Amino acid sequence: MPTLEQTTTETPYPTGLPADVLDVLIVGAGFSGLGMAIKLLESGTKSFLVIEKADDIGGTWYVNQYPGCACDIPSHLYSFSFDRNPNWSRMYSGRDEIQRYLKSCAQRFGVNQYIRVNTSMQTAVWDDAAAHWRVTTGDGATIRARVLISAVGALHVPMFPEIPGMEKFAGPAFHSTWWDSSVPLEGKRVAVIGTGASAIQFVPEIAPKVSKLSVFQRTPPWIVPKTDFAIPERWQKRFRRLPIFTWLLRTGLFWMYEIRVWGFLGKVEALRNRGEKMAVEHLAAQVPDPKLRARLTPNYRFGCKRVLISNDFYPAIQRPNVEFVTDAIREIREHSIVTQDGAERPVDVLIYATGFRATEPLHDTRVVGRNGLDIHQAWKERISAYLGVTVSGFPNFFILLGPNTGLGHNSVVLMSEAQIGYVMDCLRLMRKRGSKTMEVKPATQQRFVEELRKRLAGTVWESGGCRSWYQDAKTGESPVIWPGSVVRYKRKTRAVAERDYVLSNGAPFTAK
Ligand code: NAP
Repeated sequence: MPTLEQTTTETPYPTGLPADVLDVLIVGAGFSGLGMAIKLLESGTKSFLVIEKADDIGGTWYVNQYPGCACDIPSHLYSFSFDRNPNWSRMYSGRDEIQRYLKSCAQRFGVNQYIRVNTSMQTAVWDDAAAHWRVTTGDGATIRARVLISAVGALHVPMFPEIPGMEKFAGPAFHSTWWDSSVPLEGKRVAVIGTGASAIQFVPEIAPKVSKLSVFQRTPPWIVPKTDFAIPERWQKRFRRLPIFTWLLRTGLFWMYEIRVWGFLGKVEALRNRGEKMAVEHLAAQVPDPKLRARLTPNYRFGCKRVLISNDFYPAIQRPNVEFVTDAIREIREHSIVTQDGAERPVDVLIYATGFRATEPLHDTRVVGRNGLDIHQAWKERISAYLGVTVSGFPNFFILLGPNTGLGHNSVVLMSEAQIGYVMDCLRLMRKRGSKTMEVKPATQQRFVEELRKRLAGTVWESGGCRSWYQDAKTGESPVIWPGSVVRYKRKTRAVAERDYVLSNGAPFTAK
């Protein structure tokens, strides 16, 4: 296998779809989909395909192209454990470097030939008699596969707010995840709605370019300092020579992040207090004006919303050409935004940094399981999956980064890898038993949901006094976050328990 430095950046993906029934179809070529493809290929499976709706691979790290886009988890931890990269240029790499890493992984592990870009999944229908999935793509083709793996990610469908008059805005308007780089911002009056993880990354980038920037905040985020720095070449050399060093760094980082969960779970109050203190001190150090500080001070517990890291957001909003607005938005007009106090601010370009529809996975696709059961019907009351991976009524269907497997404290790649291992174990079990289908028992899934509910109660995500994208706006439940440590999740997914599933040889299901 070529090393990371030897890989080229451009690799074309083949076109054309197979007529035969595949063993596995993976939907999505981001971290999860690529990791799954690599592990399948390593196990000797060649009858699989990865379809990706975008025109290149990388998932969120390809799609999000806003200025300043970077990961808020150190790269040595936010990467595959089986492909540690000695060459990360910074502690927290930018989007381009992460995308390059993913492309080089795909190339080096030889999965490019299994990827079809510009190919979206529109519908997936389970055919019980044939014991396979029939997937229809965006351009009307059909792919048949015995196993379907959704690796579409949780944070890619933009959430737009419902503000009166939005549709009347006459200038360019776009969401941060669909950044429109054809719109010049230089010398323009720009408005940004939202102060979450995306906004705090691009506001400092665009503030020096625009003539006037109005940043509209609804709820202040907790922000802690970002310990970012360029990784010196001599360290990188050492990492290349002795890979144990990347392992040691990764392990150290893992525990540094992992330990935070005890504060968020409400088990070690001191950890949460320490985080809060760090954020309050950061705010005090960067914002001298007590009135502005008050507007930037959260009134909910640290960790309830995702904790943000930044050294340049507070300075950016104090620039003379930036207005920081905390009055609620009343209305959007053709060329302005009006707040509740009646103030009208002229706007040339409007940027929505209002997050994602995280509690509505697969919302733009139809996945139909046994007996015509639509997944959105199955998830009417609450999205759920056993271990976040398997759903009763949907044989041979696996989800990566599915319900309740998001993290507020550590690298989500760790969760994804645990799930990839679990799916591999499920496939091994099916092979061993000679089973055509595998489906989680409804009672197993229900028990898991009850356990989640119990574990969520008392955590900062449910009792921290905030409203966040971790929660379902309608039910107030938290179907996104994993209420535990990564270690606990890895333990639960280490091996598949046969008693949790119904394995069948093609005969009608009698899952109880
Ligand atoms: P977000 O954290 O959900 O932030 C959305 C922002 O929009 C919030 O400030 C929200 O205010 C505001 N908002 C929503 N509706 C509004 C309305 N009607 N009026 C005014 N403000 C409104 O979204 P995001 O910043 O895109 O980040 C989402 C997630 O993506 C992150 O939490 C993170 O997991 C991921 N992400 C990660 C990175 C990374 O570095 N790894 C970078 C970007 C994103 P409220 O707080 O009041 O709701």
